[in-house]
Amino acid sequence: MDEQNYSELLKKVKSSVQKREEKKRFQIPKPEIITEGKLTIIKNFRDIVDVINRDESHVYKYLIKQFGLSGDISDGRLIFKGKPLERNIEKAIQEYLRIYVQCYECGNYDTEMVREFRNEVIRCKACGAERPLYAHKEIKYSEEKIEEGKNYELEITDLNRDGDGIAIKGDITVIIPGGKKGQKITVRIDRIRKNYALGILVKKA
Ligand SMILES: [Zn+2]
Repeated sequence: MDEQNYSELLKKVKSSVQKREEKKRFQIPKPEIITEGKLTIIKNFRDIVDVINRDESHVYKYLIKQFGLSGDISDGRLIFKGKPLERNIEKAIQEYLRIYVQCYECGNYDTEMVREFRNEVIRCKACGAERPLYAHKEIKYSEEKIEEGKNYELEITDLNRDGDGIAIKGDITVIIPGGKKGQKITVRIDRIRKNYALGILVKKA
């Protein structure tokens, strides 16, 4: 390996270590959940919302909708009028983070929601990556899986900021450079990252 390659490699390793450390510093509090009679309460709801830097009522509405319950916010606590299971509340919070907070590129939660033209995007404060927000897409816990190297029939439903096609397979976002919105295509999955996959356009329908 020549010296230049070596220093490039060193740089990459350093930046990935840095990213990991930032992730560690950014701690989202574990929800403290208690029940009182017929109510279920997330005691530290506001602490969670403050850390992830999202609108309190946005998080609240998302959570109560997941359980079809009514509720309330009072003194920084979220109150469910009903008894969802603690683990399901935790799961729903994770799901919220995945849809509205987490960076798809580096996995960081230190992000902001910003409006670009008519679209809302999630911008990562750690690595600068951006992704579109699929606010109207209800992503359910899906059993659909994708594998690297396999082909799938997908429809491009959106374009990202770089003009790449976006398709959804189960709960995975597939990014397809060169795709056009509305196209039905065959895609070979090239790489799978944490929450998204890179696809290669094989055939147009
Ligand atoms: Zn990032």
